[in-house]
Amino acid sequence: MTKKETNPYVTLICTRCEFFKEDDTELECAAFKVLKNMLRKGKITPEDITGEKI
Ligand code: SF4
Repeated sequence: MTKKETNPYVTLICTRCEFFKEDDTELECAAFKVLKNMLRKGKITPEDITGEKI
């Protein structure tokens, strides 16, 4: 991935993070990895990240 915003998990998780920088490449914090894995396994939904109601 060349830019974080090309990764859908980054779009969902990182763009809501106060530390997000558009020019960061390939840096993934522990919280990002945990949330990505929980999303992949279906333990949480994208709406759990966005706070939107289903
Ligand atoms: S990798 Fe972690 S610290 Fe960096 S923008 Fe994403 S959630 Fe925030």
